[in-house]
Amino acid sequence: MEYKKFGNKYIVRIDRGEEIVETLKKFCEENHIRLGTIMGLGATNKAKIGLYNIKEKKYYSKELTGDHEIAPLYGNISTMKSEVYLHIHANLCNQENKAFGGHLNSAVVSATFEAVIEVIDGEVDRAFDEEIGLNLYNFK
Ligand code: FE
Repeated sequence: MEYKKFGNKYIVRIDRGEEIVETLKKFCEENHIRLGTIMGLGATNKAKIGLYNIKEKKYYSKELTGDHEIAPLYGNISTMKSEVYLHIHANLCNQENKAFGGHLNSAVVSATFEAVIEVIDGEVDRAFDEEIGLNLYNFK
């Protein structure tokens, strides 16, 4: 991974073989980024996406292999119990240009991944919501 900072934004490149979610989390930790947004695109050949079943309060995940365009990826950066917490969704398009979308658990870069990370000067923590079964923004 390489990056350059311009004002409150980072231009980021993640390279072949690197796992995107883990790399972005490490990047945020190292640069003390606690709130912000991530917009990116690129290519992956191994990804795990999920869908949250609200009734069952359970994630169903699916692994995709083979060439896929990340078109696009969008995520937010916050914290949970003071740790960096990423929430990322993505659409992944296959050879037939068909898209599979969902909550992105992981994606290994096959060619390149390019992102703009916008840092917000602040902090919003998350808390587990019993009713929804997810870690929601907690403004208290
Ligand atoms: Fe999600």
